[in-house]
Amino acid sequence: ITIGRAGEFKLTAASIACTDRELRPMRHAGRGGVGAVMGSKGLKAIVVNPEGGKSQPLADEKAFREASKRFATALSEHPITSKGLAEYGTAVLVNILHEAGGLPTANFTVGQFDKHEAVSGELLNQLTKERGGEGKVAHGCMSGCMIRCSGILPDKKGKFQSKWPEYETLWCFGPHSGIGDLDAISKYDYMCDDIGVDTIDVGVAVGVAMAGGAIPYGDTKAVLDVMNGISDGSPLGRIVGCGAATTGRVFGVRRVPAVKGQSLPAYDPRAVKGQGVTYATSPMGADHTAGYAVTANILNSGGTVDPLKKDGQIELSRNLQVATASVDSVGLCLFTAFAILDVPDALPAIVDMLNAKFGWKLTGDDVVTLGQRILSTEIDFNRRAGITQAADVLPDFFTDEKLPPHNTTFDITHEELKTVFNWIEGKK
Ligand code: SF4
Repeated sequence: ITIGRAGEFKLTAASIACTDRELRPMRHAGRGGVGAVMGSKGLKAIVVNPEGGKSQPLADEKAFREASKRFATALSEHPITSKGLAEYGTAVLVNILHEAGGLPTANFTVGQFDKHEAVSGELLNQLTKERGGEGKVAHGCMSGCMIRCSGILPDKKGKFQSKWPEYETLWCFGPHSGIGDLDAISKYDYMCDDIGVDTIDVGVAVGVAMAGGAIPYGDTKAVLDVMNGISDGSPLGRIVGCGAATTGRVFGVRRVPAVKGQSLPAYDPRAVKGQGVTYATSPMGADHTAGYAVTANILNSGGTVDPLKKDGQIELSRNLQVATASVDSVGLCLFTAFAILDVPDALPAIVDMLNAKFGWKLTGDDVVTLGQRILSTEIDFNRRAGITQAADVLPDFFTDEKLPPHNTTFDITHEELKTVFNWIEGKK
């Protein structure tokens, strides 16, 4: 578990890297600048030596095995967790979001990118197979993963180039920054992992620096220089390495896609409105994983809610934020959520695994209570840190500017957003 140069410089987009199965530092606690916390303590690395260690005991081993088999069956029954993610990675979303008109392009000015196929999951799959060598489709980032979304992209000679970039990474260095070059983006992805920065915050900052005139729009070489600058500690590198909010302030950019200082990820809130509710209200700022409304808005997973209308988006985001807080605390990869939303036995199987492991008697309702308690604690932390409900808003350009091609704005009001955490409001 290490930090890179960015953490040593205490840059506020610095991440903490964990090694993958091949001992490459490619799985990151990316968001929120946690690498700067390690850097500020002078802590470079933590090494876990498993020698002589034992697995934690299971209260009821037989019941645990049975429940985990049911959970594995649920994952194998869902098309996304059994096939889609393994074949194309999360990059499968590039073409889907382009079609939906919600792929933020040129710093959130339009919702479609003309070079979307050049940065797509389909191309990632094709190049990996064509180049062969050390490339891998359907590769797990950790042992035991059944979904295996984290492929390996080889270079033109078949040597390792990077892990498959996530959809959000392809988006922020791609459509958001005007770059339609998969190989260039996968190299930036490798550099982000090596330097130890969050790909979303740095990629969004690159697009904001372009909007501010600091680097030319769509210039792959200029972006490479910026990435090297983060590692070298150049002035521009240090600015971009502190994320989009800082970059926007330094270059006087009015349209900065960030909430509570955290960059918006790859779904335009005017065309995927449930996601906009999550961005505005999540205690950790604009975070897609905190309440992934793309499920019902775009993928028809866990129901269907029209992404272009405001109806039902508050409830959707609330339910997802509560459920996600619970699933995250269990330690499962969030990509299991598709099966949890759609396969009826998946959630009961998780509850049964927990009970068998710890000797508890949890029910499905306890999962909701747990999620609410986690969110209440996070909100309480924010209030004590001086972050009030006034911060639960999107930047004004999302409400003022229409997004082509649907020409919609984000029309969910602040009063409506205030009702997301209604169980807390009810207690006051
Ligand atoms: S599904 Fe989750 S655990 Fe599995 S490879 Fe992908 S990110 Fe890693």
